[in-house]
Order: sequence, then structure tokens, then C-alpha cells
Amino acid sequence: DKRPYTVYSPYRKKWEGQLSSDFLTHYPSEKYLSRIIKSVKAAPVSLSTLGFKKTDMQFRPPRLNEAVIGNYHETRDFPATEGTSRLSVHLRFGTVSIRHLVRRALELNDTWLGELIWREFFMMILYHFPHVAEQPFRDKYRAMRWIDDAAGFERWVCGKTGYPLVDAGMRELNATGFMHNRVRMLTASFLTKHLLIDWRKGEAYFARKLLDFDLASNNGNWQWAAGCGCDAAPYFRIFNPTTQAQKFDPRQEYIRKWIPELDTDQYPKPVVEHTFARLRALNAFKQL
Ligand code: FAD
Repeated sequence: DKRPYTVYSPYRKKWEGQLSSDFLTHYPSEKYLSRIIKSVKAAPVSLSTLGFKKTDMQFRPPRLNEAVIGNYHETRDFPATEGTSRLSVHLRFGTVSIRHLVRRALELNDTWLGELIWREFFMMILYHFPHVAEQPFRDKYRAMRWIDDAAGFERWVCGKTGYPLVDAGMRELNATGFMHNRVRMLTASFLTKHLLIDWRKGEAYFARKLLDFDLASNNGNWQWAAGCGCDAAPYFRIFNPTTQAQKFDPRQEYIRKWIPELDTDQYPKPVVEHTFARLRALNAFKQL
């Protein structure tokens, strides 16, 4: 009907239906960039002109691990294992070719292809609905009464909520600039549902810390987690941080890596009780 898609599955279907070999042709930038630069008579721009600073951080090269991608559907949810591509920083900065990755995804793993399509889905949403950068995708969520809880936010930021998988995730983010997707979903859900803190605060914190920060993906996923976005998780589906940990880090390998003091008095008691927080969130959302 000529209106943009707002639900992922039909978008993906159309995306795959329209995919032809033209879209997958490799255009090596080494070859084409020099032509473009000559044609505009411009010298290559410096890092500082682009607003970047040189860093000593080490980055993995943009290499696709075929064994990992082949098993992606089985391993992607377990933060203790190397089960995802770790290519997001390269995709975000254009240091790997999306055409190349889509070609490989078609050969290697359909679930992984789906993730590359999520990335484009959220780009498309931001393009057609630019208000999402500041406001919920759905208008009725503008009325949501978020709680102004500076102490709770600080505990979330520092990884001291007393919920180990949430805390491990925030500590991974603070230490490395990366967080595993399963844990991004949980920490975002925890902030917006358990603490009822405005998703925009969490979004801004992730934007500051993530090396793969991308406005469209960050915003789309935060709104998804908060339940106010297009095609969002329904508000009554609230992650239980304890069962999520049992399911996705059963041997506590990831948790213990980031929380050495887990079994000591130094590890805090839960910032909020799960059943109470869940009911409070359900009531708040129901009133909208
Ligand atoms: P893989 O699992 O190997 O996936 C391959 C690629 O697909 C990723 O590199 C990414 O480009 C894309 N992708 C995967 N999952 C998603 C998704 N849910 N939405 C959009 N694209 C996806 N991703 C970002 O690139 N930048 C962000 O700022 C960002 N913020 C997020 C915030 C929250 C609250 C959540 C829940 C997710 C966010 N993501 C973001 C999506 C996802 O967590 C990361 O892309 C992924 O963890 C990167 O690891 P990977 O490269 O190993 O991904």
C-alpha cells in the first residue's frame, strides 16, 4: 500500500523477495574511492575532521568465523561462548562490506541473515519515522509515567543491581564497550520494566559506551525492550532476570567472569524484588 513496513516479518519477506545478485555485487572501495575523490578534487578527510580521535584500543579484524556463523542459531544466546560474529563495530563504521556478509549469510545461516535484516529494518524505521529519535514510536506511550530514580539508575550503570546477569552485562559494557545481545535485551528490560526508568536514559548511556553505537539499532532495540516501539515485545512479557541467568548462563561462567565478588557480602542484595517490580510495571503499562 506504499506505506513503510512497521512489522519485521513481512518486511523480511519482502526484503528477501527483492534480493537479486545486483545487490550482492562487491564494489571494492579501493578502486572506486580514488575515482570519486579525483572527480570531486578533494583530498581524503582526516580523522579529526570527522570528529574522531585516534585510540590505542585493539580491534579484531573484520573476519567472518564460518564455524561460528554455521552454528549461530544454536550458540547466539549464550554470552559465555563465542557464538556471534562480533562484527557490529565493523558494520557500524563501514569497515566490512554488508554485501559480502549477506552473500555469506545466504550460504551459511538463515538466522544470522535475519539479524542483518533487523539492522536494515531499524534503519528503515528511523528514516521513515524520524520522531523515534526523541519519542516513542507509538504515541500512547508518551503518557507513560517513568520513575525518576537516580539511585536505581546509578546501580544499573555500575552493575550493582543485585541481579547477576544484569550486573555482568553492565560491567562488560563499562569495561569493553561491548555487551552480548542477550544481555543487552535483559539489561534494557530491567531498566525499563523493573526500575520503570525512562528508556531514553538507558539509550543515552548505551550510546555513550557502545563502540558499535548506531542510532537506528540502539533506538529500535531500546524501544523494543521498553515495549513502546514498532513490533515491540508486548508489555506483559517481562524478562525474569533470575531465570534468564539460569537459562543462558547455566554454569555462571559469564557472570563469574564479571562479578568476582558474587558469593561475598560485598555483592549487593537485589535493588528491587522481582514479583513486586513485575506487578508495578504491568499496572503502569495497563493504565495507558
Ligand atoms: P551478530 O549476532 O553476529 O549479528 C550480526 C550483525 O547483525 C550485528 O553485527 C548487527 O549489525 C546486526 N544485528 C544483530 N542483532 C541486531 C538487532 N537486534 N538489531 C539490529 N541489528 C542487529 N547493535 C548495533 O549495531 N548498535 C547498537 O547501538 C545496538 N544497540 C542495542 C541496544 C539494545 C538495548 C539491544 C537489545 C540491542 C542493540 N544492538 C545494537 C543489537 C545487537 O545487540 C548487536 O548488534 C550485537 O550484539 C552485536 O554483536 P555481533 O556483531 O556479534 O552480532
